[in-house]
Amino acid sequence: MAQENLPVVHVINGRQKKLLQGHPWVYGNEIERVEGEAQDGGLVSVVDFRGRHMGTGFYNSKSLITVRLLTHRQEEITDALIASRVRAACDYRRFILRREGTDSCRLIYGEADRLPGVICDRFGGVVVLQILALGMERYTQVIADVLISCEKPESLLLQNDDAIRRKEGMECFTKVLHGALPQETIIHENGVKLAVDVMGGQKTGYFLDQKDNHLFLRQFCRDARVLDCFSYIGGFALNAAAAGAREVTAVDISEAAVGMIEKNAALNGASIQTVCANCFDYLRAQVKAGETYDVVVLDPPAFTKAHANMANACRGYKEIALSAMRLLPPGGVLATHSCSYHMPEDVFVNTVLSAAQDLHRQVRVITLRRQDIDHPVLAGYPESHYLKSLWLQMLD
Ligand code: SAH
Repeated sequence: MAQENLPVVHVINGRQKKLLQGHPWVYGNEIERVEGEAQDGGLVSVVDFRGRHMGTGFYNSKSLITVRLLTHRQEEITDALIASRVRAACDYRRFILRREGTDSCRLIYGEADRLPGVICDRFGGVVVLQILALGMERYTQVIADVLISCEKPESLLLQNDDAIRRKEGMECFTKVLHGALPQETIIHENGVKLAVDVMGGQKTGYFLDQKDNHLFLRQFCRDARVLDCFSYIGGFALNAAAAGAREVTAVDISEAAVGMIEKNAALNGASIQTVCANCFDYLRAQVKAGETYDVVVLDPPAFTKAHANMANACRGYKEIALSAMRLLPPGGVLATHSCSYHMPEDVFVNTVLSAAQDLHRQVRVITLRRQDIDHPVLAGYPESHYLKSLWLQMLD
């Protein structure tokens, strides 16, 4: 049965399975017909080909993701339901905020918190909220009120300037919803201090998904020569320095990011060499110069945002892995990442391992890690697992 009074989206036969498994999206090409006047941003009931209720969600004809389900049950979507989801999201993050020396985490991870299109990061006293789905826009104040009462932040910034909003038919803007933004936002992660640019930085300002991998890196860094490629504002590099690395170099193509690494190194009294360069070129030049490192980190941006670019993406991952391995003598450690959902874990691992094969070098897998646990993976929604973190040791 469809929920009463709502327009009804009929899903084509075969697509009900993923919804039954918990997937929260219906793509436009999965819809057989829409009964009633579905409004962009309004609620619809979703049924399968037999008319069985699959859930209730937001409709947006302008988005490829035409329906985002808020619930798979028969329940009314109310302010109270949205507020309870936000409270649950904040409660879960207490685990992370109890970590020694950490005052920052992702508070709301969209679909995995059953708040489709909502992203919220806590950076010390500053909470940054992003609404990326049209249907959620009208709940902005409800979400903000709960965030203010649960988190008691000094300021709450609505950072609605991600280009995804245009695809959803929304404007881009930023607005302070509560308190006043500090001149400078300094966060603590595993005891490391990081100045974060919440207004001009990439994404919400900092990639909180790597916190636990930053910490993991430390155990390999004592007295080591460490190269952090695609370093952004220096998460890995600063942790390497904190762990007693002999020499740390951080490389990023963004001048703004490199400026922030320098600032962050100074904040922590750490010595980090910074390089503003394309890592593809930099790695090649280092190989040519015969440089060697004990540890190399590769954390490039998503090479592929679509399945179709997979082959190119694999070439990219392989090229940097080949260079990095050439810089690592026997015993050296490579930490390499892919943050693209479209790159399946096994394909990524095989791509990196094939680089070792090409070099006729034996390697062993130390571990295969993921995004930190404030970015949990929703069962039935594989898109929520995007970060792959492969750690290898060169054996010869
Ligand atoms: N390692 C970081 C996150 C990296 S995000 C952390 O742990 O927080 C990816 C970074 O790669 C961005 O800072 C971006 O500026 C940079 N980047 C993108 N293309 C690049 C290239 N070709 N060479 C060097 N840096 C690049």
